Amino acid sequence: MMMLTKKMIQIRGLLQTVGQSESLTLPSIVVIGSQSSGKSSVLEAIVGHEFLPKGSNMVTRRPIELTLVNTPDSHAEYGEFPALGLAKITDFHQIQRTLTDLNLAVPPEQCVSDDPIQLRIYSPNVPDLSLIDLPGYIQVTGRDQPVELKEKIVDLCEKYIKAPNVILAISAADVDLANSTALRASRKVDPRGERTVGVITKMDLVDPDRGAALLNDQKYALRLGYVGVVCRVPSSTSNTKSMFHRGSGNITQAVARNEAAYFGAHPEFGPDSHLQVGTKSLRKKLMQVLEQTMAASLKTTGEAIQRELAEATYEYKVQYNERPLSAESYLAESLDAFKHSFRGFTEQFGRAQVRELLKHELDQQVLNLLAQRYWNRPLEDLSAPLPESDPLSGLMKADPEGQDQIWRIKLDSSSAALTKLGVGRLATSVVANALQTHIDRLITQSRFAAHPFARQAITEASNAILKDLSYDIADELEICIKPYKYRIEVEDNEWAKGRDNVAKVLKEELMVCESAVKKLEEQMGGRKKVKDVMAFIDRVRSGQVVLEGDGIGGAGGFSASLLRKGREAVFLRDRADVLKMRLLAVKSKQCANKKNKYHCPEVFLDAVADKLTTTADLFLDAELLSKFYYIFPRELDARLGRGLSPAEMDRFAREDPKIRRHLDVVQRKELLEHVLKEMEGLRQIEAREKRYSARR
Ligand code: GDP
Repeated sequence: MMMLTKKMIQIRGLLQTVGQSESLTLPSIVVIGSQSSGKSSVLEAIVGHEFLPKGSNMVTRRPIELTLVNTPDSHAEYGEFPALGLAKITDFHQIQRTLTDLNLAVPPEQCVSDDPIQLRIYSPNVPDLSLIDLPGYIQVTGRDQPVELKEKIVDLCEKYIKAPNVILAISAADVDLANSTALRASRKVDPRGERTVGVITKMDLVDPDRGAALLNDQKYALRLGYVGVVCRVPSSTSNTKSMFHRGSGNITQAVARNEAAYFGAHPEFGPDSHLQVGTKSLRKKLMQVLEQTMAASLKTTGEAIQRELAEATYEYKVQYNERPLSAESYLAESLDAFKHSFRGFTEQFGRAQVRELLKHELDQQVLNLLAQRYWNRPLEDLSAPLPESDPLSGLMKADPEGQDQIWRIKLDSSSAALTKLGVGRLATSVVANALQTHIDRLITQSRFAAHPFARQAITEASNAILKDLSYDIADELEICIKPYKYRIEVEDNEWAKGRDNVAKVLKEELMVCESAVKKLEEQMGGRKKVKDVMAFIDRVRSGQVVLEGDGIGGAGGFSASLLRKGREAVFLRDRADVLKMRLLAVKSKQCANKKNKYHCPEVFLDAVADKLTTTADLFLDAELLSKFYYIFPRELDARLGRGLSPAEMDRFAREDPKIRRHLDVVQRKELLEHVLKEMEGLRQIEAREKRYSARR
């Protein structure tokens, strides 16, 4: 018999996880009573511990679905809140605090909530029972309580006391039963008293005669009868001598002893009276009633499960083509696909790609150096006159002795500036950034795009690895290029290559300049307009026109913004002039020979940049790329594969709404199948027990 209830309660628990549905559950015992009727004391006497929220203000705002699990082979007593995923709680005061917090989380304006708190208590001292504790009925609303509170509690209780649930109606002996709100509520839904157990508390507060009369009540006769109890737990703060102390071990025994003493002292409750008294008999009664009620519901519940299962199976077939899915398999597949795309990327991003990236970056650095050190006509300062001799044209002329010396120093210092730029750090970060960008792109193109959690995990993984590797690699690379900082020899073939390449770079730069000019022309209203503005700016520059103020409010009939754009156009024109001139120089015969390197700084610096690139790409390919390619997939496994708990995998998979719906159907179907199987097992236990009792 014990086994059967246990199993049914287990099935009830399983059904709770399937989801809230009225027909998809097994009945429970619903506990109702007015505030202060002694409802908590009765429940705590059954559980053996004080664990319910207490306080002058009403603290039960949500139903508590209390499942008691008898564990005969263990000494441990503990509680679990399955929905919260907390660990076992062995301290019942902690359970009390958690319940209080969960209750207080209901906003005051909502008064009460019908979202139940699930609490399981495991102990060798509890019976297997499933109880639902509801907020106590209140007679008058307190000053700080909303007026609709009373109504809301009544509505909430009404919802739960529907058939086939068993009603445990608690009334205090010192209150006229005709006034018992619990009994009145129960009579409304169970007029013939077929599924109500009456409990009369505080029997010690009335004369035994009167107490006995209450238990014999015929006005609202209950088939399951009335049980009289005394389960007062004196407050620990009270100075009066307590019957037993709160929290001092298990209180079930203490209550039972106290009741035995009380009822034993009054012959009115003796065995001949056939009255039911004491929490011990109440426990027994509840177990019997629950088992019978649950067993009676098995058939209808089983049919409801069959129906639900048929629906889920149909949906699975029609919507998902019976495609199996679990959070774990989904994650594993997604991860495999991602790693596969990553492998594809590694095959396309090697030394050649690193080289191209680095050379481009160094080309830009060379252009900047050239502009700063060679092409630096002070064009931006419009009011200053042009320098008398243009250093560029000077370069082309036959140099007098002194000039030559200047060009020598200029080139040496430029080349030193390039090699001492911090190429180690620059090159490493350029390649690391490129890798990160590619990873981001791979994520966006993968299934993980719809999973913020995975996205972040992957980004963090690559970030962390790259950061970790870059630190040392940058320093080591810097050491590799150290020799170039002191001496650089350029071979003939390197010179020729540099000459070709820098011509290309200059041409590209020229194109960038020209397209920028075009854009400006569009913005300023045509080529003619640009010409006019530029002519004005030139006149200002050559001192033919003096600007009043800084030309902030506009000048020469042009607005300030036109002038600003005009200055940009002048800069671009001058830059284009320089580029064209240098392009000619690079292509000239003079620059074909590396002996003339001081006059061909573009070619020389390009050749230096090329040497630096060669050292860097070799090193970064061997160190950064291959190490990253090795570590990253393993890190992915650690962060997203084996590293995740089943709950985390489920949370991950459910981030994608499509997958979530699919998983819901699959999991619902599996759970219902599981429940049905459990119910089949139940039938076997039932049959066995029948045979056993028949034999006896
Ligand atoms: P609830 O509001 O219905 O949960 O009622 P409680 O269980 O908190 O009890 C209300 C008050 O009645 C408390 O002060 C209890 O100590 C007291 N009480 C509960 N049961 C008994 C009893 O059997 N006898 C006596 N004398 N007092 C009781």
